[in-house]
Amino acid sequence: PASAPWTLQPARFLALGPSFFTPVAPQPLPQPRWLGHSPAAAADLGLPPHWADEALCAALSGCAPLPGAHSVATVYSGHQFGAWAGQLGDGRALLLGDSPSRSGLCEVQLKGSGRTPYSRMGDGRAVWRSSIREFLASEAMHALGIPTTRALCVIGSSAPVWRETIEMAAVVTRLAPSFIRFGHFEHFASVSALAELRQLADFVIDHFYPRCRTPDGPADVADAHGARSYPSAATSDGQPASPAHNEPDAPLTGAEPPWATDGCPNPYARLLEAVTRRTARLLAAWQAVGFCHGVMNTDNMSILGLTLDYGPYQFMDAFDARHICNASDHGGRYAYARQPQVAYWNLHCLAQALLPLLDDVAQAHAALRPYRDLFWRSLQTRMLAKLGMQPLAERAEADARLIEHLLQLMQADQVDYPIFWRRLTDAVGEGALSSDAASAHTALQPVRDLFLQRDAFDAWAADWRQRARADDVAAAWARMRAANPRVVLRNHLAQQAIAEALAGDASAVDRLLAALLQPYDEPDDPDLTAFPPAWAARLRISCSS
Ligand code: AMP
Ligand code: MG
Ligand code: MG
Repeated sequence: PASAPWTLQPARFLALGPSFFTPVAPQPLPQPRWLGHSPAAAADLGLPPHWADEALCAALSGCAPLPGAHSVATVYSGHQFGAWAGQLGDGRALLLGDSPSRSGLCEVQLKGSGRTPYSRMGDGRAVWRSSIREFLASEAMHALGIPTTRALCVIGSSAPVWRETIEMAAVVTRLAPSFIRFGHFEHFASVSALAELRQLADFVIDHFYPRCRTPDGPADVADAHGARSYPSAATSDGQPASPAHNEPDAPLTGAEPPWATDGCPNPYARLLEAVTRRTARLLAAWQAVGFCHGVMNTDNMSILGLTLDYGPYQFMDAFDARHICNASDHGGRYAYARQPQVAYWNLHCLAQALLPLLDDVAQAHAALRPYRDLFWRSLQTRMLAKLGMQPLAERAEADARLIEHLLQLMQADQVDYPIFWRRLTDAVGEGALSSDAASAHTALQPVRDLFLQRDAFDAWAADWRQRARADDVAAAWARMRAANPRVVLRNHLAQQAIAEALAGDASAVDRLLAALLQPYDEPDDPDLTAFPPAWAARLRISCSS
């Protein structure tokens, strides 16, 4: 029997009215074929088994209508590389409609579906390599417990697309509670469309931050309830994942920075603070896992604090705080270590756009103020979990030095970031935190081998052992296994899957995805956890995609 078709509802976004979008039909991709499917996303959508059939392939490549879809391209503006870029908009994406999912209604979007009124000089298309990269990263980040837009599938065609060379067109089906960006707000502010600006803010508050209308307490329902509004990851045995990766926004152990807008009757100030706090936590999650976004323009910043628009992103190989993953980023504006500051800068752009809705500029400053403290505590909590530790107020400065010292050593010796954390976790399993110094030393040998400065590493490890041993060792090890992924979507892994797909074996994409969906489990394929090959350092990923 044919599977029940996936039927969409009109997007809630359409209620905003025609100033916010233009209806556009997707341009059919000739002879579409499946390149990748996410069983995890399909399960969240409640799609039937065998959902990835020919009819859906045709519908999600623009060759046939998807039941219930009313496709539109939305308008936004933004700051790119620190400069005002004016109007941008969905130049190659279309919002098709809303779909129920386990985590509530989500928007369904095609990316690479052809030209729109916002395409400017672009062709409205996306190529296989960038589409496969976005598909894999969306689902990998979700499985890591990091807030992100999702991807149901990627579909390819042999239709030619001109980039630096001739490539082939593909389209990704993306999912998110909302794809609204900082840039949507900047757009209406920049043209002084204050009624629309207010309407947009009201829409976001009503659907996603209803507590902004209640003056007291946290303005984010996710904070108010402790249980997070983000979809949850699950482990391979079907059990809910442990809190460390199931709840990326898990409350910090130390005191939360207080809500600056607690008691404030202006809902838009409270919205700004809610977005500020989600963004701070998102950036902490990125830094801890070694994720470089690559193009943190304000049009790529989600109003829901989701990782959005995967382009030349990279999960870092050798640790380098100055690492620049985007070959088009000549000045290093979006280098790894700059990301937290850039996000803060971007929040100022959002604040600027919201100013007409605020009582005064002091309200904007107040709403932005928690960023530094929350980012810092959230990052510390995550880094300590990676080390098997929990934050202790009286140890905060010493712990910060412990982490800083480690990162300095890793930077100096170009230590592979994912492998360091894997080996440290395994070392604890082998007795690195036991009371016997000699067996601890033996257990730590594979970690020590990653460093050139062995004495410096030994000194650091002695400090770490002393601190981490103060806690229950079994709990420390569990914390590390939940905080240190064993499989990370490094550039070379994505590249190998892309090369295999281009050579005719698209199953490589789904095979890699399967491992990425269980990132805290040991994968069957040892290549997934190996050091990157030499050619990985020569990969140049640019904005052209
Ligand atoms: P990005 O750098 O991918 O975030 O894109 C910035 C802006 O350029 C957005 O408005 C995109 O929709 C638009 N854009 C990027 N690539 C294309 C393309 N190939 N065709 C049309 N618009 C594009
Ligand atoms: Mg973008
Ligand atoms: Mg993009």
